[in-house]
Amino acid sequence: MKNTKYVFVTGGVTSSLGKGIIAASLAKLLQERGFSVTIQKLDPYINIDPGTLNPYEHGECYVTDDGAETDLDLGHYERFLNIATSQANNVTTGRIYQSVIDKERRGDFLGKTVQVIPHITDEIKHRIQLLAETGDYDIVITEIGGTVGDIESLPYVESVRQMLWEKGEENAIVIHLTLIPFLAAAGELKTKPTQHSVKSLMQSGVSPDILVCRTEHEISDDIRRKLALFCNVKQEDVIQSIDAETIYDVPNLMYREGLDDVVLKKLHLISKKKPALKKWNEFLAKHKNPTSEVEIAIVGKYIELQDSYKSISEAFIHAGSSNETKVNVRWIHSEDITTENYQKKLKGVNGILVAPGFGDRGIDGKIKAVQYARENKIPFLGICLGMQMAVIEFARNVLGLVDAFSSEMKPDCKNPVINLMESQEDVTQKGGTMRLGAWKCDILEGSKAYNAYKETSIFERHRHRYEFNNDYKDQIELKGMKATGINPRTGLVEIVEIPSHPWFVGVQYHPEYKSTVLKPHPLFVSFIKAALKQSKK
Ligand code: GLN
Repeated sequence: MKNTKYVFVTGGVTSSLGKGIIAASLAKLLQERGFSVTIQKLDPYINIDPGTLNPYEHGECYVTDDGAETDLDLGHYERFLNIATSQANNVTTGRIYQSVIDKERRGDFLGKTVQVIPHITDEIKHRIQLLAETGDYDIVITEIGGTVGDIESLPYVESVRQMLWEKGEENAIVIHLTLIPFLAAAGELKTKPTQHSVKSLMQSGVSPDILVCRTEHEISDDIRRKLALFCNVKQEDVIQSIDAETIYDVPNLMYREGLDDVVLKKLHLISKKKPALKKWNEFLAKHKNPTSEVEIAIVGKYIELQDSYKSISEAFIHAGSSNETKVNVRWIHSEDITTENYQKKLKGVNGILVAPGFGDRGIDGKIKAVQYARENKIPFLGICLGMQMAVIEFARNVLGLVDAFSSEMKPDCKNPVINLMESQEDVTQKGGTMRLGAWKCDILEGSKAYNAYKETSIFERHRHRYEFNNDYKDQIELKGMKATGINPRTGLVEIVEIPSHPWFVGVQYHPEYKSTVLKPHPLFVSFIKAALKQSKK
C-alpha cells in the first residue's frame, strides 16, 4: 500500500470563498504531475446527507455512481479531475455520529463513556484514512466544510490536529483559505481578518502550512510579508487567489502562483513533470473565444438560487465549449409561466431545458414550457421531472387524456402516465430511499440519444421515485413519442423522444452529473448543437 499524503483545506473569515474550487484546482495540478489524487468533503451538519435538504438551503444535491446523495462540491471534483467520486468522498457529522452511536448500541465500547474525543474524532480520522485505503491514492485532499471558529467544526479541526501529529509534517499539511478584503474608503487590502482566523485555528492547535488568500486586487510583496510574519508561514507559502473570470481559470492561476510546487515540497514529493493542462487549456480557449451564441431557457422552481442547478449550468459550459458556442441561460421561474404569458416568456430561445424537481409547485409552468418546445420545434431536453412533464404534456395534448398526470402530484389521478415505482411502494423513510445511482440503459439505434452517445448501452445516474407508466407506452408510441432508452432488467423507460421533432429528448436520469471538462456530456453537446442549428433559422 502507498504512503498516502494528506492535505487538509480549512476556511477562514467567511464561507463561500471557494474551498472546493481551490481543492479541485490543486488536485488537478497534482494529477497532471502524475500523482493519483482524490478529494473529500467533510460537512459539519447533522443531516446524514444533503438528500433531505431543500436546494434553497444547500444548492444542488449531487449524486455519485454508487448512489450517494452528496455535496455539490463533489461535482466540482469530478468535473475537474474527470474521475468518479463515491460515498466515501463526502462525510457529514450526522453520518459520523450515526456510526458511533450504532457501535455504542452494538457494544463495541462496552464499559466506556462515549465522547467527542476520542470516539467522534477517531471516527472522523477513520473516514479520512478509509478513502486513502480504498483508492490507493498518493494524495488525499480533505476539505473541511464551514469556517474555523464555528462550534460545529471543532471536532474536525481537532481530528486534523491529531492527524498532523500522527502522520508527521512530511505527510500531512494544512492549507488555510482566507479572504483579504479591500476597503474602498481606505483604498487598502486588509490582513487583519486573516490574522484573526489563523489565530483561531492556532487556538485549536493547528498552524497552517500554506495560506491561500482570496482577493479582488493583486496582493503586494509588502502584504505577503505582513501576512507571513503574523500568520507564521514563509512568504513563499502565501498564495494569492485573485477573482477569476471563470472557475476553470483557477488551476492556471494556482499554477502561476506555485501552489502545487509548495505543496509537493512540503510533502517531500518529487515530480519533474510540469502540469501541461493541454486539453484543459484547449477547452478554456474555446470557452473564451466562441464563434456563435445560443440562448437556452432553464425552467425550474429553484432558480432564485442558481447553485440548485450547478451541474446543469456547468454541463452547458462544457457543451458550449465543445461546440465553440457561448451558451446564454435565460433563467425562468416555472411559477411565473402561465397560459397567458408562456409564449412571451419563451420567445426567442434556441433551446428549452425543463429541470428536475419534486412536488407540485410550478408544475403547470413546466408543462407549458414543454408544450411550447414541442409545438414550436424548439430543441428540448427534459431531465427527470422534466422528462416526466414531457410525457404528461404529450398525453394531455396529443393523446387527449386531459387528466393525465403523475401520481406524485395527484395520487388519485385517473390517467397516471407517470406513477410510483413498484419498488417504492413500501418505502416510508425519506432519506436515501429513492432509486439512486448508476443504472444501465439500452439505447435504440438510430435514435437522437444514440446519435449523441454513439453507444447502445450506457450507465447514468438516477434520483427519483416515479417512472413512466408502461401501461400507456403503446398509446404514446402510436402517437409519435418513442421510448428510445430502456433499463434492460426492469423495462423502465429511461429516454423518450419525438422523432418528428428536430430535437426533443426527455431522460429519467441526470446526465448533468457526468459532464466534465475533458468529457462534456454527449446529450448536452448534441442539445447545444441542435440549439445552434435552430438559432441559424
Ligand atoms: N419528483 C420526481 C420523482 O421522484 C422527479 C425527481 C427528479 O427530478 N430528480 O420521480
